[in-house]
Amino acid sequence: MMPNTSSLTILTLPAFKDNYLWLVHDGVHAAVVDPGDAEPVLAALQEHGLTLTAILLTHHHADHIGGVPRLLAHAAVPVYGPAGESIDGVTDPLAEGARITVPGLGLVLAVLDVPGHTRGHIAYVTEGAGERWLFCGDTLFAGGCGRLFEGTPAQMAASLAKLSSLPGDTLVYCAHEYTMANLSFAAAVEPDNQALQLRLVSEAGKRADNVPTIPSTIALEQATNPFLRATAPGIVATLEATGRVQPGATPVDLFAALRAWKNVF
Ligand SMILES: [Zn+2]
Repeated sequence: MMPNTSSLTILTLPAFKDNYLWLVHDGVHAAVVDPGDAEPVLAALQEHGLTLTAILLTHHHADHIGGVPRLLAHAAVPVYGPAGESIDGVTDPLAEGARITVPGLGLVLAVLDVPGHTRGHIAYVTEGAGERWLFCGDTLFAGGCGRLFEGTPAQMAASLAKLSSLPGDTLVYCAHEYTMANLSFAAAVEPDNQALQLRLVSEAGKRADNVPTIPSTIALEQATNPFLRATAPGIVATLEATGRVQPGATPVDLFAALRAWKNVF
């Protein structure tokens, strides 16, 4: 097996109010995921003595791509992005089934189509030995999921089911620190979930110390994220008791009701 993630490190670069940019490096070369702002990326490259070798994009929103022009002026590197969206600077449009080897890092990533937040949103998941990493942009969040700006509830539910089917130890590198707000909602939806109550305490402690709650894991999301648990009996009971769905609602109905409730929570 190729070394893949075992020889690599991920740096967490906070940006804007609550974004995280992910800088993957081997001590020499680095690739950045969703650089909404170039400034923290350039600062990290300089601080750690790294050479930028690739840019990876999940979707077209400005807080995920805004730094691309300045990074390309700094280093003319390949830019990977969704085939289904028009983004200036993308050199390698990708869709599900694509597999890339990140230049300079030897990191093999498979591409998943995860429409819903945007129409062409993609995610990247590692292949090979070492830790499993998922870069999922604004699709799956710690304790929550992205808003449906362009896609349908059915699309997003299918995208989240796809991510939820990844191995439980997969580390989830999403793009925002929304965790506490998401878990507050989750607790309202499924108050008797003991794993969720434990997670609330654990994540609150991290935030009190200004420590990121990201990465999460797929297993933790399966246990505590209502958007991966829309058919759990406790969640169905809450949705029915509050009149948000009728008995017999489909899984997509349940997901749609959760997403609509969260939008106004
Ligand atoms: Zn977005």
